[in-house]
Amino acid sequence: MIFDWIFQKVSHDLAIDLGTANTLVAVKGRGIIIREPSLIVRQKKSHQILAVGNEAQKMLGKTPTNLESVRPLHQGVIADFDAATAILTTWIKEVHNPGGVLPQIARPRVIVGIPSGITEVERRAVQEACKVAGARQVWLVEEPMAAAIGSGAPVEEPTGVLIIDIGGGTTEIAAISLSGSVVKKSIRHAGHAIDQAIIQHVRVNRGLLIGEATAEQVKLKIGTADPDKAQKSSKKEAKTMVVRGRELESGLPASMVLDQSEVAEAMAPIINEILVTVQDTIEEVPPELVADILERGIVLAGGGALIPKLDQYIAQETKMPVWVAEDPLTCVVRGCLDLHDRPQLLEKVQMVSGLVN
Ligand code: ADP
Ligand code: MG
Repeated sequence: MIFDWIFQKVSHDLAIDLGTANTLVAVKGRGIIIREPSLIVRQKKSHQILAVGNEAQKMLGKTPTNLESVRPLHQGVIADFDAATAILTTWIKEVHNPGGVLPQIARPRVIVGIPSGITEVERRAVQEACKVAGARQVWLVEEPMAAAIGSGAPVEEPTGVLIIDIGGGTTEIAAISLSGSVVKKSIRHAGHAIDQAIIQHVRVNRGLLIGEATAEQVKLKIGTADPDKAQKSSKKEAKTMVVRGRELESGLPASMVLDQSEVAEAMAPIINEILVTVQDTIEEVPPELVADILERGIVLAGGGALIPKLDQYIAQETKMPVWVAEDPLTCVVRGCLDLHDRPQLLEKVQMVSGLVN
């Protein structure tokens, strides 16, 4: 008994958001401890892990041929189980037992936010990975539900909550009521797709080949969902940005100035795909809940929620109020952390749970 008490004291409660772009880990009582890209670099042959997260990001695009960089989650599914395990193991150990000083008996309870589209087999795989990392107990929660909880939405009440979580690989949309998803949709139009659309646009219209990191920088600096800018009808002075890449015709390095209107034009098709899916979701929501959503508004979470004017654009097109959640990039992990203190809600929203040993 006394040992049980000691184990509880030295074991932490952890929350993990295993996102397609970023992995976040939070500890009860300490807040968010880890916030790094979901990325690893390893030996191609032996699969020996050389770097995880920020370390791996620094090596991106610069690895020799015997190394490979891998994103474990691709478009909302676990594309590489070994890489996912490496990330979970690294961060759980780092947070829970840095330097391996605690005895094996100290084992955390872990709540993980996972994409809603993943299969039963993949869920078990995530659970297994947490177990390998030393977890005592693991619960999995769908990301849109975790995001809604993290945003402070009243998910337990008999009222409608519509959450749009725009991440790197997927946009997840869910209408939630009474602790469950009434309608949910997941599409592969999100941050990475926007970056790709910018690459494509610059290549076709400017004859310049730019890299993924540059495209993302363009989006972060001058990206907008403002339809006026996309139609080039704005009289206001638009922002510009200098980008470097390789000129297609000459094959030589070149730099060009991009302005906001062409970036907005490049982003518009992806943003419209997201909008159409939001509209489809709303069409499937029972009328009583639509009335609630109309009153409370739609909540935007995930990195994509930070795209300037996206909230206004969705509000204008759906004729519903839209709010950007506070600190949208951390909603999922904060929602998971919150669930450690709300066992009854956790019981209702978990997808897979249980003692792992
Ligand atoms: P995931 O949950 O899939 O890991 P995140 O919620 O962490 O994804 O969001 C990452 C995505 O959000 C990336 O595509 C990134 O480029 C994008 N993002 C982050 N900040 C911003 C911003 N200020 N404006 C637009 N997009 C952003
Ligand atoms: Mg996410």
